[in-house]
Amino acid sequence: MGLKKSRLLFEKALRLMPGGVNSPVRAFKAVGGCPLFISKAKGSRIYDADGNEYIDYVLSWGPLILGHAHRAVVRALKAAVEKGTSFGAPTALEVELAQMVVRTYPSMEKVRMVNSGTEATMSAIRVARGFTKRDKVVKFEGCYHGHADGLLVKAGSGAATFGIPDSPGVPASYAQKTLTLPFNDSAAFKSLIEKEWKDIACVIVEPVVGNIGCVLPKPGFLEKLRSETKKYGIVLIFDEVMTGFRVAFGGAQAHYGIKPDMTCLGKVIGGGLPVGAYGGKKEIMSLVSPEGPVYQAGTLSGNPLAMTAGIETMKVLAKKDTYKKLEKTMQHLEEGLKDAAKKAAAKTRFYRAGTMFCTYFTAFDVIDYASAKTSDTVTFSQFFKGMLKRGINLAPSQFEAGFISLAHSRTDIDKTVDAAYATLKAIMRNG
Ligand SMILES: *Cc1c(COP(=O)(O)O)cnc(C)c1O
Repeated sequence: MGLKKSRLLFEKALRLMPGGVNSPVRAFKAVGGCPLFISKAKGSRIYDADGNEYIDYVLSWGPLILGHAHRAVVRALKAAVEKGTSFGAPTALEVELAQMVVRTYPSMEKVRMVNSGTEATMSAIRVARGFTKRDKVVKFEGCYHGHADGLLVKAGSGAATFGIPDSPGVPASYAQKTLTLPFNDSAAFKSLIEKEWKDIACVIVEPVVGNIGCVLPKPGFLEKLRSETKKYGIVLIFDEVMTGFRVAFGGAQAHYGIKPDMTCLGKVIGGGLPVGAYGGKKEIMSLVSPEGPVYQAGTLSGNPLAMTAGIETMKVLAKKDTYKKLEKTMQHLEEGLKDAAKKAAAKTRFYRAGTMFCTYFTAFDVIDYASAKTSDTVTFSQFFKGMLKRGINLAPSQFEAGFISLAHSRTDIDKTVDAAYATLKAIMRNG
């Protein structure tokens, strides 16, 4: 596997862009080595600048649930581009995608399109604050909600502490408005809410935590978030930027049967183009400008190309057999990976929700950030490199979810499972 061109491009990129990339995890820092520079992709396959082919489980970090360059999406985009790429005025396309979203996510009675997941969460929180006239935000350790200042916060271990900024450049005074709790800890949540509810505008959560791999909510946890927030007039925000259309067509809220007050979408909703969306109850969303006083705007929001990719993706997802097929493929991969780990006597834990999954290199159950951190990241990086060498592209970090698409065939899965077994066996042999 030659990486000559990727190496040369990376050297050049390092001189021009911070870390040589436009988003940090792409730089392979967690696993070491040179990132692949991608030249093209089709279906389940992705190709680097040196012409190497890989079966792709990153899928642009989740959006490409139909696979790369899906025919219907490409065809519609070609037609759309001929009609102009941006108008800065309302279009029928926005109305069509909004209709699809509202139909699939009944908790979102009204929706606003934006350009990224970060914009969606940031704006949803502003609206929640405007609605409740309170300032504080509760989030959970390990949940990622984009890179807005107040959300780049982690906390000390144990009970809730005042937020400490995760990044220089975030004023401590912003971070102090963010309270952080361990995911899946209903008791800690209840006691925090009872103490501080008067100041709490909203609770934001990834209903399945995809940004530390794939951490499932314990039975009763999301229900607890719902009942307590309802009791104290706090806005419950489900950040379904990753779980939306992944855990189920209707997201984690459909799968777990919980109705949040607001929802954030991104990734899949744009079908590979930059789209985010936030929405919720009418009485909350009617505060958004120009209907209400909470300001939020975007020059390229509702962009016709982005809306087109989203609409075409939704059309395929809405077909009767789509999720059945995805589920079958995912089951096949789950069984294969678990079996490969068992046969190789590797200590791993596998979790998945719909079409997002993670294999942790740990002997412990993963239920939150602390337990995810018990993973052996050195073994993970060996696994990652071994898989890459065998033509399988996984996310270059233990703490990222993997994804499958409609384009992943049985043969793709079988090849992946064989590669996983060979890689794990080699790792175990070398100790
Ligand atoms: C990816 C992600 C975001 C941020 O979306 P961007 O489009 O990268 O800004 C926010 N929340 C969750 C849960 C995500 O997975």
